[in-house]
Amino acid sequence: MNLDTFLTALNSVRQDEVVITTMAASQAWPNHSRHLLDLNYVPSTMGQGPTIGLGIALACPEKKVVILNGDGCLLMNLGCLVTIAEQAPENLILCNMDNGHYEVTGRQPIAGLGKTNFVGLAESAGWPVAIEMDTQKLRVQLETILSIRGPVFVNVKLEMSQGGSPDLTIPMPERIQSLSVQLQSETSFK
Ligand SMILES: [Mg+2]
Repeated sequence: MNLDTFLTALNSVRQDEVVITTMAASQAWPNHSRHLLDLNYVPSTMGQGPTIGLGIALACPEKKVVILNGDGCLLMNLGCLVTIAEQAPENLILCNMDNGHYEVTGRQPIAGLGKTNFVGLAESAGWPVAIEMDTQKLRVQLETILSIRGPVFVNVKLEMSQGGSPDLTIPMPERIQSLSVQLQSETSFK
């Protein structure tokens, strides 16, 4: 499956969830979505997406939070699996974008390529739901994932994409401020 196929399916079922993207996903997601609850978390944010998402999920428990995090990003912050499992926010969904490479930094293979089982890592960390994305049932499975009690870890096997340019038109502080204002208008978050 390529990245755009996954993002197209996600955008088709997404309603009012917060969507946080990092690295390759953050380059591609603006071509699919310009939602007020998007946070394209760039640049140079390897590893930080899941914990930003955890903070939002805890602050806004009535709001689902979907994090699209690179596999290389996850390896840079594996501790987030344990922290999120311990906090266990029911409204958090972490998608591990598993293309086997550090795509944005030059397509180097990730450590553990072909050996590391990401779903197994999440299960061992204590995630109640840790699954592989079924590309044959993509849309239906995404609808299920967005509706069930989390935290949910989803491993999304992907081909490497063609790459792109990060969307840097809006400075990062303004993106965060914009999301914060939107969350304050939609939730009890203050
Ligand atoms: Mg990758």
